[in-house]
Amino acid sequence: MEQKRSKNPHKFFSGAEKQNIIAAIKAAEKQTSGEIRLHLEKRSRKPVFDRAVAVFKKLGMGRTALKNGVLIYLATSNQEFVILGDQGINEAVPENFWNDVAGRMSQLFKEDKFCDGVCEGITMIGEKLESHFPYLADDKDELSNEISIHDK
Ligand code: CA
Ligand code: CA
Repeated sequence: MEQKRSKNPHKFFSGAEKQNIIAAIKAAEKQTSGEIRLHLEKRSRKPVFDRAVAVFKKLGMGRTALKNGVLIYLATSNQEFVILGDQGINEAVPENFWNDVAGRMSQLFKEDKFCDGVCEGITMIGEKLESHFPYLADDKDELSNEISIHDK
């Protein structure tokens, strides 16, 4: 019988899956100056979008020079997620810029492919940002590539 995926945000992804996700972030950040982070927590006590905005702020993601941080927020209890870009991105791209990314992620999540969903989402975000925010020769890793995990 298939093992049920843990809702504990620390155990939701296996160690190997976490490494794959971090590798996807590093690879995406070689395409663009945009900075991508993944945040996991069990559940949101407010509407997920509002919570994602709060997490974005708490992680200091608004501090990139070009205002081009992107947060993937994922609640592990019900797999609700949000893709949230900073102001610099919102000013440069059309509305609903993330719709295809979110659609692809939802599709893979429904197939219980959460690591693939997150990794493909990260790759797509990097590709989409490339034309607006190309990778710069003097690139700095402005935001940690580690997965942020909130205990509650
Ligand atoms: Ca960077
Ligand atoms: Ca980074």
